[in-house]
Amino acid sequence: AAELIDGKKTAELIDAKAGEAAGAIARIIGRKPGLAVVLIGDDPASDVYVRNKVKRATAAGLHSVEIRKPASLTTDEALAIVDRLNADPAIDGILVQMPLPDHIDTNAVIGRIDPDKDVDGLTPVSAGRLLLGERGLRPCTPAGCVLLAERAVGDLTGKYVVVVGRSILVGKPAALLFLEKNATVTLAHSRTKDLPALCRQADILVAAVGRPGLVKGDWVKPGACVIDVGINRIDAPERGAGKTRLVGDVDFDAAKETAGSITPVPGGVGPMTIAMLLVNTVTAASHREGLEAPGQL
Ligand code: NAD
Repeated sequence: AAELIDGKKTAELIDAKAGEAAGAIARIIGRKPGLAVVLIGDDPASDVYVRNKVKRATAAGLHSVEIRKPASLTTDEALAIVDRLNADPAIDGILVQMPLPDHIDTNAVIGRIDPDKDVDGLTPVSAGRLLLGERGLRPCTPAGCVLLAERAVGDLTGKYVVVVGRSILVGKPAALLFLEKNATVTLAHSRTKDLPALCRQADILVAAVGRPGLVKGDWVKPGACVIDVGINRIDAPERGAGKTRLVGDVDFDAAKETAGSITPVPGGVGPMTIAMLLVNTVTAASHREGLEAPGQL
């Protein structure tokens, strides 16, 4: 059976290292790296995410600010918040929690974030820097996938990676990040022909689709590393009436029999996202202050 890739433990380790790096920077520049998290509206899932981000940033010794605004906020008011944070010398990282209320122009708000403070890696400038291989802030979830894969299999040079899902947030940047590690990458999606046969060739199989159990056990090459990004809530009548549970995009019970290593859901990629956010904040602070970034933690 496969080795379980413990994303929670790895995330704790990265949090601690980001905290150490933050402390080292603070000793030089006289202030802690600062993260601002902006939540607009009252989406309950976003509320949990934002609280966790601020809690872990604070626990790691970062300066963190939480800004909450009602769903009635206008685009102009949202842009004004971003402008203020862009100009705030105590803030190195700005994260605007997605999704924004429908009436707010999401692209305008994201695009307004100073790319050097774009710790979510979502601005067009950050995307361009990633594509061009320039220094910049990389999207957190795919960066977490690469780190887990690297820790599980070692050097990724020449490994064959199949990424299923081509979203702006996960699939596309994941493909580019694996490419940066000298892997050979195929980006598959809903129109890909014979997806099972393609997946069977992968040394590293990344599933970022959002469909429970899409990736079957016999899609996994024996010994492959499986990174399951999906977070899907499904009914779990076995736990009692009306109960639900979280599952990934991979049929975990079957895949773990063939895989060499596999991330569980929950407890795999999920916790890594915030860890990479802390790393990005420390990196942003280093760059802004002209210091050497901590590099790979
Ligand atoms: P998305 O809906 O934006 O993109 C899904 C992608 O899957 C699309 O590119 C589509 O082409 C592809 N796809 C859809 N059906 C397919 C099929 N049958 N076969 C092959 N490909 C198919 O989703 P997303 O934002 O990339 O998120 C994907 C999953 O990852 C979701 O479950 C989401 O909750 C989860 N997620 C987790 C984290 C985290 O762990 N922190 C972060 C972001 C997203």
